[in-house]
Amino acid sequence: MRNSVLKLAQEAGKQEGAREEKAKSPAPTDDVARLQATFEQQLGTLLRRNEKLEQLNACFEAALNHMGRGLSMFDGEQRLVVCNKAYADIYVLPASMTRAGTPLAEILCYHMQRKGKKLTKAAALEWVKEHVARLQHGSPREEIQNLPDGRVIRVTYRPLSDGGWVDMQEDITAQRQSDEKIEWLARHDTLTEIPNRFHFRERLEQQFETFDPRQGFALLWMDLDRFKEINDRLGHLVGDGLLKSVAARLKSSLRAGDVVGRLGGDEFAILQVGVDREDLADNLARRLLQNIRGTHDVYGHCLQVDASIGVALAPHHGQDPEQLFACADMALYSAKSMGRGIHAIYTPGAVTPSASPNPLRAELQDALDRGEFALHYQPIVDLHEGRVSSFEALMRWRHPSRGMIPPSEFIPIAEETRLIVRMGSWALRQACLDAKEWPDGIKVAVNLSAVQIESSNVYETVIEALEETGLPPQRLQLEITETVLMRDQARTQEVLRKLHDLGVLISLDDFGTCFATLNYLRSFPFKKLKIDRSFVRDIPEHHDCVAIVKSVADLARELNMRSVAEGVETAASLAAVRAAGYNEAQGFYFSPPVRVSGIKRAIKQCALRLAALDTAMPAPKPQPRRTPK
Ligand code: C2E
Ligand code: CA
Ligand code: CA
Repeated sequence: MRNSVLKLAQEAGKQEGAREEKAKSPAPTDDVARLQATFEQQLGTLLRRNEKLEQLNACFEAALNHMGRGLSMFDGEQRLVVCNKAYADIYVLPASMTRAGTPLAEILCYHMQRKGKKLTKAAALEWVKEHVARLQHGSPREEIQNLPDGRVIRVTYRPLSDGGWVDMQEDITAQRQSDEKIEWLARHDTLTEIPNRFHFRERLEQQFETFDPRQGFALLWMDLDRFKEINDRLGHLVGDGLLKSVAARLKSSLRAGDVVGRLGGDEFAILQVGVDREDLADNLARRLLQNIRGTHDVYGHCLQVDASIGVALAPHHGQDPEQLFACADMALYSAKSMGRGIHAIYTPGAVTPSASPNPLRAELQDALDRGEFALHYQPIVDLHEGRVSSFEALMRWRHPSRGMIPPSEFIPIAEETRLIVRMGSWALRQACLDAKEWPDGIKVAVNLSAVQIESSNVYETVIEALEETGLPPQRLQLEITETVLMRDQARTQEVLRKLHDLGVLISLDDFGTCFATLNYLRSFPFKKLKIDRSFVRDIPEHHDCVAIVKSVADLARELNMRSVAEGVETAASLAAVRAAGYNEAQGFYFSPPVRVSGIKRAIKQCALRLAALDTAMPAPKPQPRRTPK
């Protein structure tokens, strides 16, 4: 178009020159004059038209160059016909590349060179060929181009009838950015800038989809302890700052490929990939807790925070996201029940809180904080010395509406939910505190659950209880049941050995209910053997019980342990255990468990019972015990 305009102008110029030449020649004839007039008229028309065309051309150029979008036109020979300024700007084309007639292949080579890629002329021509072929279908085509400077361009090609085309370039960088921002916002937590619940779950689903059976993975569900307190005390701004700091620490503790997400509130989740052993997840949980525990500097506040983590492993614990989340949730529930700053790995077979809806379960959580537990004490009598040697602490739950609930109903739930760890620590401390007030020779016996030994720092808890209350270790006895021995033997042995070395006396409770433990008797530092009350209770009627009761007393003596008979309800059973050579006895015959305020009365009552017994039947001489090796 531009060429035709120029041609027209050149022609008009030539004609103007001719007109001037004519004016210099001799006076024209009429014909010549007419001809000249016509010519001048036509020339005038032509010049005006030319002027108009030039104006139009200028308008056209102005319009083209003021367009926000890039525009270019190529002919059927794939040569540039025209392009606007925006087109040149988008592709950063020099003036030489925007001239009419520039082959597309040349522009393409230049463009690729700017992108840092070398394109041979042959390859460029090949690209152009394919491009033309794609346009031959006759319908507009669209493509997105990512430019080296980060801009994103949408190009629309419109084919023309002569085999050429017009293309339009639209800079959609801002739109893309806002789309990406929207997409990002939908999948991330804006506060901590880590994946949100939705996105985290998506990643977990992907992990299951692309699952490699040789490479498991772990889900760690983390909940900050007492975050609400910080939030309430210092305000949401500080609370938010703390969450940000925690998220940053979690992020920096992970390896590439692992994912951390915020599930909401103060709950975070971690997807740990490539976990084929439980101890790898265990290590990460420890590391995360350690990193989180360090001081967080938030708006001038030095904050300390702790967390609980529940761990579940795929595919062992769950074969889909729901299952895995449920297992991690249960493990977290256990960890939280054990106290603060603890992680727990899901134990297959553990009863889910929802699977056995026990109304006591939910209430047990808060019972300790509400001070609903109490310790009752039952005397244990030394049959040879004829006096109370110790009191066994037995837990009671003073339920606000159901009244006194016996331990047989709530201890199993407490063990299952691992709340027993906190409850047991409380019992230890309370028992030591109470015993401090008793006459010097009287010890206190506290029951320890297997869960406590397994999952808490029971040794440290005992030391703390003794130090805080000032009770000498020699006045504390710990009763453990046979189930403890069946579990993690190495750990149990270590813990019991340390407690024994401290001077605390360890008794084996409920002995006889599981004879497999006979094997372990020598490996653990027991000082006392408490025969299960079921044997003692049945003494009068069952002769075989008498035999068992007797042989347990003999066994204890052989192993250099003291023997205790519990469940002594009558004078007859007391006589039988005395005859069997038991060192100590415990049971309703002497006293039921009593409140701490009833200790003195219980001691008196035991003395009366013993006196009555001695009048009826003098105590047998204590049997010789083997001297320790
Ligand atoms: P245990 O350690 O074998 O405690 C002795 C149980 O026998 C007590 O039941 C006691 O009241 C009962 N008993 C005492 N004398 C007699 C008797 O002459 N006849 C009969 N039939 N029973 C007698 P309690 O207090 O209901 O405790 C039941 C179990 O709960 C305890 O058995 C112990 O295993 C557990 N337990 C109680 N308190 C605690 C605690 O603080 N921590 C832990 N881990 N377990 C506890
Ligand atoms: Ca006991
Ligand atoms: Ca017992």
